This record gives sequence, C-alpha cells and structure tokens, in this order.
Amino acid sequence: MVLQKTMPSPIPPHRRNFQRGPEESHLLLDGRSAIAATTLRREFERFDLRMSQAAMQEYLRCEYEQHGLNRVLDLLWEWEACVGYFSPARLQQNRRYSYEDAETGVTFRAQINFARNKYSPTPATSSATRALHCAICYDNLDLPGKENLRVFKFTLNQGREYFVQVTPFPLFEKHFVVITMETLPMQMSRQSLEDLLCFVELAPGYTGCSNSDVEWAGASILAHHHYQVFEGLDLPIMHACVLPEYSIAEESLSVGLLHFPIACCRVTSRQRALFLSVCGKMIERWKQLEPGKNTCNLVVTQNEAGYCCHILFRNPAFRTAQELLAIKSEGVGVVEVAGEGIYPVPEGDNAAAIWAKIEHEGLNVIKSIIASNNPVPQKDFGKLFEMMRTVVEEGAAL
Ligand SMILES: [Zn+2]
Repeated sequence: MVLQKTMPSPIPPHRRNFQRGPEESHLLLDGRSAIAATTLRREFERFDLRMSQAAMQEYLRCEYEQHGLNRVLDLLWEWEACVGYFSPARLQQNRRYSYEDAETGVTFRAQINFARNKYSPTPATSSATRALHCAICYDNLDLPGKENLRVFKFTLNQGREYFVQVTPFPLFEKHFVVITMETLPMQMSRQSLEDLLCFVELAPGYTGCSNSDVEWAGASILAHHHYQVFEGLDLPIMHACVLPEYSIAEESLSVGLLHFPIACCRVTSRQRALFLSVCGKMIERWKQLEPGKNTCNLVVTQNEAGYCCHILFRNPAFRTAQELLAIKSEGVGVVEVAGEGIYPVPEGDNAAAIWAKIEHEGLNVIKSIIASNNPVPQKDFGKLFEMMRTVVEEGAAL
C-alpha cells in the first residue's frame, strides 16, 4: 500500500492529553447506531488515510449531535496533525514577535511563518476529468495531493451548507477555514456577519474572521466564499481603546471608532437582533460610499459581555507603502490589519537588513503596514462617525 508510507509517526505529544469523551457518548443512540459509532471511532483512532471522507463525516456527525461543533473541530485538528496534513511542530517554530506600543496601549505582533512561506493555494493537480472551480472547493477532496484532507459538512445560518477544514499552513492553533458547499464568489455583507455570528454561537470561544470581496483590500480567495476561524484567538485590535469623541454608549449597544492605525468600528451588544441590524447596516453603508471599492474585514466574537464585532474599513486604493514592500509585498488580510503581521521568510540580497528591521523596528513596521492600508485618516473620522450615528439611530428604531 502506497498510502502506508505517508502514514503518521506515533501519536504526537499533544494527543496524549486529549480529553476523550467517555462512553456516555453512546447513550443517545439506539443499539445499532451505538455499534456503528463505536466502529467509526475505532476507525478514526487509527489515524489512517484509509478512513474515507464518508466515514469521517458520519463519525463527526455523531460527535456533533452529541457534543457540538467544538468537539468536531478538536477531532479534525487531531486527525489532520496525526496524518501529517499539517505539522504541529512547524507551527511551534514560527518566529513570533510582540511589540508594546505606548501610543495606542496595544501590543502589536508579527510572525514569520516558515511553513506557509511562498504558499499559494492551487487546485489539486490530477488527470481527473472533473474541472475544479478553485483550490478550496469541496471537489478537491480525494484528488492526488489531497489524500489527507478530511472535512466536516454542516449547516450554518438558516440551512446554508458549509464545510470546515484545517488550513494546511495554520497561523495559530485550531485555525480552520469554513467554506460554502456551493461555488459562490466571496461576499462581504450582513450575511457574512450573520454566518460568523452563527459560527461563534455553535463553537463557543472561537474567533470568526472574514477577509473581503475586493482584491487588494483584505481579500484572500475571491473565487469562493469562505471564513477563517480560530479557537480562542485574541487579536491586538481587541485591546484598542475607543476614542471617546467618536463613540456612542447606550444601555443596549456600544459603538465606537478605535485608537488604532486603521479605521475600525467596534460594535458590542447583548441584543442579537439589534447587533445584527447595526453591524449589517454599517457594512452596507460603508460599501455604498464607493461601490466596488469600499469593503470590510470582520472579526466576530461572543463572550459573557455579549456579541462583539470589529468592522475594519478597507479600500484597494490604500495599500502597503512602497518602502515596506520588501517585508510584505502580498495583500494584507484581516489578521494583519487586526494587529499581527504575517511575513514571509526574508530572502535575497537584503535578507539580513529585512530581518534586522523586523527585529529592531518591528513596531514601526507593523503599524506602518496597517496605517498604509487605512482608507480613512483620523482627520476624517468626523464624517465616518456621522454615518455610524445614523446607522445606530436606524438600528435602535427597529
Ligand atoms: Zn471553489
């Protein structure tokens, strides 16, 4: 068996502490289903590529119904680590920096992702007769080069069909991509917010992020609608202060622009419908100001304080400044504008100088990258805030 050669090495250390649910997980199943579930679990625990996608889906569906989405994500992560789809060891090796900033009070970060270096997703190559829509379609499963990819299909937000998979080069622990089954192009709208909200409700403790639908304005894969989600990801922007002169604090809702290098509106509320209405309108209004250009990145969380959304305003006319392109020439996505630079490994004649800049001027580098992608300078915050105020008044009038 050729596949045996790519089989994983012994159980990695992170798995030893894995909290396996006790046998009570079968209590809700009838006798026959319980036997089937046990068989599937045994198959899963072999961490063997012979476990088909169909069997994986069935096993994860049982776990989902009994234990919820967090459990499914834990299992997928574990399985993909064990079969070598991604390397937990390499994830640990990413060079990480943090930089305290006295001006904003935020600790910015950067990472040099060795595993991800030069990665650009391309569809699996094969002699398959199927024509692939893009690199992240469900149709990529089973194709040569993707033998170790398994996913979980589930519905989100009023029956919209999605699947979730581990990203091949994670930036953080439990970094997944949530993708529509249908081949829809990337969108940024109220729907994005609703989907992410549903996701963080199904998987408590996760941070839901969206790139945008406009190239060079915080987009990743434009051909196919998707989100990025991370367990417990705390991003620098979450610690930015609200500017008092550009904030509205009501009992049921807080909205404010942040003291941060890119214009960002933070919305928090305990009232789901109000939260959705205000955030959704905010996205739409901003887009309407320059159709086809204005767009957003989103970071959505839910905790004991309620729902929270960071709407980061984007426009492709505002890009990384020329002098920073040696460090980061690719587009700047949601994680980066939210405060953590993701840089490729410095290479070429200037590699030493680039390393030195990241090491010694890192704070200035990440703040400048974010600032050069900012479409609204602080002197124009008044106008932006007027738009926000109108949206809040309409939202409150629901
Ligand atoms: Zn696709």
